[in-house]
Amino acid sequence: MSGARVIGKMKVYGYGTKSKEDELVPVTFERGELRDGEVAIQITHCGVCHSDLHQAKNDWGNTIYPCVPGHEIAGVVTEVGPGVTRYAKGDRVGVGCMVNSCQECDSCEKDEEQYCSGPKSCTLTYNGPKNPDGSNTYGGYSTDIIVREEFVLRVPDEIEQDKVGPILCAGITVYAPMKHFELKEGQTLGVAGIGGLGHMAVKLGKALGAKVVAFTRNEDKKEEILAMGADEVVISTDEEQMNDAAGSLDMLINTIPVAHDIAPYIQLMRPNSHLVIVGNMDSFPEFSPGPLVFNRISLSGSLIGGIADTQEVLVLCAKHGIAPATKLVSIDAINEVYEELANGGGQDFRHVIDLDTLRKLEEDSQLEATELPSPERGDLAKAS
Ligand SMILES: [Zn+2]
Ligand SMILES: [Zn+2]
Repeated sequence: MSGARVIGKMKVYGYGTKSKEDELVPVTFERGELRDGEVAIQITHCGVCHSDLHQAKNDWGNTIYPCVPGHEIAGVVTEVGPGVTRYAKGDRVGVGCMVNSCQECDSCEKDEEQYCSGPKSCTLTYNGPKNPDGSNTYGGYSTDIIVREEFVLRVPDEIEQDKVGPILCAGITVYAPMKHFELKEGQTLGVAGIGGLGHMAVKLGKALGAKVVAFTRNEDKKEEILAMGADEVVISTDEEQMNDAAGSLDMLINTIPVAHDIAPYIQLMRPNSHLVIVGNMDSFPEFSPGPLVFNRISLSGSLIGGIADTQEVLVLCAKHGIAPATKLVSIDAINEVYEELANGGGQDFRHVIDLDTLRKLEEDSQLEATELPSPERGDLAKAS
């Protein structure tokens, strides 16, 4: 199918939704022309992130419809535009949560495009700019995507194609704070919440030489978490175990995705340590800053990571044989997957869509695809 594609039009198929009440349905749209510096990618796999579900359902109130989710993309380069220097046809590549940024603000200069302060902020892979301005982007639940080369990641040979996606969201989200706050060999890293983000944090923390203590409510998961490489597992609902761990952590990556009492986690921290929130965006119940003050504990948040750090975490995963736990699914099972996630299922692995299933449906003429307006891709920033 890709052989017959006219790149100037680049008609692609995908799955998307027109409103929060609708399920995801087959869609078709044009990605447009391959411009200077851009790379066309045939998508082989796309991870299903909890954000996809939140965005499709407008849980954050900022969804632009139609919405074609997906920001954990693995694929193969099919064409490169004029001036592309980093990639060639046939390269295995990934695309994570961002596809563009201004490339000239302070944050972009520091390789922290996720904090871009340009006029459109960074452009997210789907649902457009972080600060919506009416433009939209369509993500990886689709057969192909066009991305400027600065936002394309190189996939090391050691990483299987279906394992790439979750590293580009879950992996970088937990790795970026470890790097920024300088987790050192021999230090003790706590990981609170052992789901999609947490299991990657355990593995990456070990790869960086830290002692890793996992905090979970789920006693049944203890053996599994130890098998991931955690040195210790603390049951967070057991007050005695939590008290025994008091003052022991140099860093805590808190991946718990819902509001919760963080006071018991603050007491785990050593002087000069970092408690980093990467999961929850809702209000925390009231807590006293006393323990922060008395031990110079910093409480911070962190959002995904820059492109350079994302490339770095891919290389780190390849070097240490780190792969996320995944389960391959067909594109037409996506609504069932969403239902499973909404009901609290799928905690122990990431669903990854095999996009060949979408190509097969199209080839077999089994897709009744709704035509969507073409997505915005974000302006090309100043030529580099
Ligand atoms: Zn994500
Ligand atoms: Zn910028």
